[in-house]
Parts: sequence; structure tokens; C-alpha cells
Amino acid sequence: MKEDSPEIRGLTQEEIMEQMTNLQEKPFRGKQVFNWVQVQRVQSWQEMTNLSIELREKLADHFSLVPLQLVWEQVSKDGTRKYLWKLADGQKIESVLLFHEGDFTRKRTTLCLSTQVGCPMNCSFCATGKLGFTRNLSAGEIVSQILDTSSLLQGIKINNLVYMGMGEPLLNLPAVLKSIKLLNHEDGQKIGMRRITISTCGLVPQIERLALEELDIVLAISLHAPNNELRNQIMPVNKTYPLEELIGACRHYISKTGRRVTFEYALIRNFNDTVQNAKELVRLLKGLKANLNLIPLNTIAHGQYCRPTREEITKFMKVLQEAGLEAVIREEKGSDIAAACGQLAGGSK
Ligand code: SF4
Repeated sequence: MKEDSPEIRGLTQEEIMEQMTNLQEKPFRGKQVFNWVQVQRVQSWQEMTNLSIELREKLADHFSLVPLQLVWEQVSKDGTRKYLWKLADGQKIESVLLFHEGDFTRKRTTLCLSTQVGCPMNCSFCATGKLGFTRNLSAGEIVSQILDTSSLLQGIKINNLVYMGMGEPLLNLPAVLKSIKLLNHEDGQKIGMRRITISTCGLVPQIERLALEELDIVLAISLHAPNNELRNQIMPVNKTYPLEELIGACRHYISKTGRRVTFEYALIRNFNDTVQNAKELVRLLKGLKANLNLIPLNTIAHGQYCRPTREEITKFMKVLQEAGLEAVIREEKGSDIAAACGQLAGGSK
């Protein structure tokens, strides 16, 4: 294998079939290889037992198959699991596995995927942002997070994906789109488009670019503030793409895809949790086909930021409900093992 050999985990079935022809092999061998890689989740060429030894050697000469190396796994009180992975070049990333009922035997499981080593967006509440940016992940490395996590789970099916781990997914859009194609493939993991969420801090040109794909996925916007003054304080991206532009891009996205956009709003005491803030939020999202997730922050997990009281949360929610906004309160999961939103630090903590 040469150092720059293409990663087999990042190739579609069609691409592998084409490569088989180039290697003077029958194209259907490509289907077999794709199945070994994406369904059987093999860790080595030797495991592809229905291929001849000669073909396995040929594959090893032309492609790379490098599973992620598990550094450690942490388990939260609520059942959430966090994995620290080492990549082939020694860089580290994290993935988080969430069980919706906190029950390991339940069928609905969600994997939160990383898309970059570090992140350049520098949101003030985020541990990943503090690391700075190192590099984008390849499609193979993104897909590997689900393949290698599934192998650890021994048969428990991961059926939801959220691109909300380390990194800003829309800054790595080609690899993210390729990974979605791979994971949605009917001969692969078959994860439904509607069970895939891409989250962004609000990069307007990339939202416009994503709209062109007209995918049935869920687009989630990390909003966290109802006006530019507050949002500028915690999310530097807002100085480049202020709320008017962001909401305009969401409007366009909705009209192009016909899909609702989800807005994430972390409720932070004495920052964005007043009745006035709730009214601003209503004005901002009025008329949009949108869902709003309110996430009261966990004080212990987020240091200087505090959780509002139950009364304050209820008052905030009442304003939204009276205005007819589709809003739900979501509790953070895994904050005791630093697996909640904004806590992923690539094992540096
Ligand atoms: S919240 Fe997301 S976009 Fe912002 S710094 Fe963290 S990883 Fe990057």
C-alpha cells in the first residue's frame, strides 16, 4: 500500500466497481468488497474470505483499510457513551453515542459524528473551538466512526446520525456529503436521509450550497441568541453572517428542499433567557417552517455559563407556545463525561 492510496471506506460501491475493472477484475467483485467494508465492517483484507488471496493482495496494494483506533470509551450515568479515536496520522477525534431512553437495549440509537480535527469557528462556549483547527476529516474517517462504533456494539443498530461532534460540518461539505451517500446506500448501512442531521453555526454560503443538493436530511442551526448583539458575543461567525442573512438563507433552504429547519437554542441564565429574549426569538422565527429545541445548559458542565431556574425556563417557553412556535425542551445528555454539546475536546481534557 502506498501512503496516498485511496481509503476503501471512503469509496462508493460504484467507485469500487469501476476500480475493479481497472484492476482487470469482474465489476461484481466491487459489490462484494463494498459489502465487506460497509456492512460486515471488516478490519482487514484477510477477513474478505470470499475473495481469492491474489485479489486480497491486489486490494491491499492499491487501497488503504485503516480502522480507527479506540483510545478510550467513557460511559455516562444516563447511558451516553463517548469514544476517543486515534486516526492514522495520530490525530484524535471524539464520537458520542446516545440512547434515547438511556437504555442500552432500546433500538433508537444516535451517533454524533465529528467532521474536523478541532474547529476554526471559535464559539465561546465550545471546547472544540478552543483547540483551533488542524484538518478536515476524510469521508472514510467520518464513515469509520459509525463502522467502528457499530463493531464495538456487537449488533446494536445505529439508526440516527447527527453531524454535531467536533468541527463545523459545512466547512468540510464534500467529505460530509460523500459520507452521507455512503451511509445511506441501500447496499450499505441504509441509514434513512430523514434520520441524518447536519448542524451548522450559520455559514450562509454553505447553507445555500447545501440547499442545491435538495437532500431529505435535517438541517440544524446553532442559534443560541435572539439578536445580533448577543450572538456576536458568543459566536464570531455572526459578525460575518448576521442573523438577517442567516434567516434569509434558512428561508431559501426551506423553499428549495421543502424541509423544516431545526434551531438549537441553549438557554443561558442572565444571558439569553428573559421574556424579552423570548419575544425577540418569536419575531426572528415568525413565519418560518421551523422547529426550536431549547436546551437549558448544565451549569456544572459549562463553567461560567449557568442554567436558568425551572421558573425562568417555563416563562420563556410560555411566550414561545403562546406565539405558536414549535418548541420543545431538550435536556443535555452525557454532560458528566463531557459528551454534551460544546464539550468535546479531543481527549485534551
Ligand atoms: S460549536 Fe461547533 S462550530 Fe462552534 S467552535 Fe464548536 S465545533 Fe466549531
